[in-house]
Amino acid sequence: MTASGMVAALHLPPLPTIGEIIKLFRLRANKQLSQNFLLDLKLADKIVRQAGNLKDAHVCEVGPGPGGITRSILNANVAQLLLVEKDTRFIPGLQMLSEAAPGKVCIVHGDVLTYRMNRAFPEHLRKMWQDDPPNIHIIGNLPFSVSTPLIIKWLENVSNRDGPFIYGRTQMTLTFQKEVGERLIASTGSKQRSRLSIMSQHLCTVQNCFVIPGHAFIPKPKVDVAVVRFTPLVEPKILQPFKLVEKVVRSVFHFRRKFCWRGVGILFPEADRLKKTEQMMQTADVDPTLRPTQLTMLHFKGLCDAYRKMCDEDSSLFAYNYRDELKEKMRSKRDRHLKQLEEED
Ligand code: SAM
Repeated sequence: MTASGMVAALHLPPLPTIGEIIKLFRLRANKQLSQNFLLDLKLADKIVRQAGNLKDAHVCEVGPGPGGITRSILNANVAQLLLVEKDTRFIPGLQMLSEAAPGKVCIVHGDVLTYRMNRAFPEHLRKMWQDDPPNIHIIGNLPFSVSTPLIIKWLENVSNRDGPFIYGRTQMTLTFQKEVGERLIASTGSKQRSRLSIMSQHLCTVQNCFVIPGHAFIPKPKVDVAVVRFTPLVEPKILQPFKLVEKVVRSVFHFRRKFCWRGVGILFPEADRLKKTEQMMQTADVDPTLRPTQLTMLHFKGLCDAYRKMCDEDSSLFAYNYRDELKEKMRSKRDRHLKQLEEED
């Protein structure tokens, strides 16, 4: 028996295996919801170990499903475990786990994308932002279609210090498709460097802990899975509002293979695009012929600060949207064409 297996036997009373739970409650994975279950409790223990020492911690597990990771969290001797699960079919199995750890588990049947976490934990756990992180952890193996929008939402919460970060620098251990994990940690010059790399690394220390092969899950997903740990930074690398940073970074990577000035250009209306782009590149002191993947965090900071200055000088600038301008151009082109056809008839 492994060390983790022994701990399991010590803390939870004998329970059906996850496989038995799946059979007992007829929990066939819903492929449309990208449900892939982890049945190997050693791997579940390994995921949970990445979160650090959870003794007496308050943990929120998102998407517990049949409860493999849930058992590992309970075995880590946590004080409280909050489970947020969207699919009703899993609730009875989770209740069974809850009964095995009396007083420790709270089950929320809901959607983690809309669940408000700013009241999820006791007030006394709150820490100052500059202090060590609070003894609160978020852990989850969610469908990939949920984990990426969720991390973007939580990064915005980190930036605003709200949601789960109202308690301080709450740490998160989450799974992603392996390629997304690579983007999250990608450094300057790497092929995987992308919007996600800048958005996550400017706000958090991001650690790609390990990769779980797809065949460890049932049913087997087409891709491998990365376990990634996030710890919010005391001081973000870019001191600008989240939406502004996101707009600049998204624009820069819009033409990821071109020189970076091309992406910067789409922050400005066509009429004075060239002039404003040149002004922004000069203020930011960034070489316009660098490719987006070659830009450092300091370059992005310079670009965001320069764009902020220009937005402060021109109050209509931030609302400008390149896609809307493109759509409008296409519409008027189509209208002109239709008018021409009518005149020819
Ligand atoms: N954590 C379990 C495991 O590792 O075996 C289940 C993993 S399965 C990939 C994802 C789980 O997240 C499912 O139980 C699914 O119902 C749940 N889920 C999906 N979307 C969700 C959402 N928006 N909010 C809460 N739970 C969600």
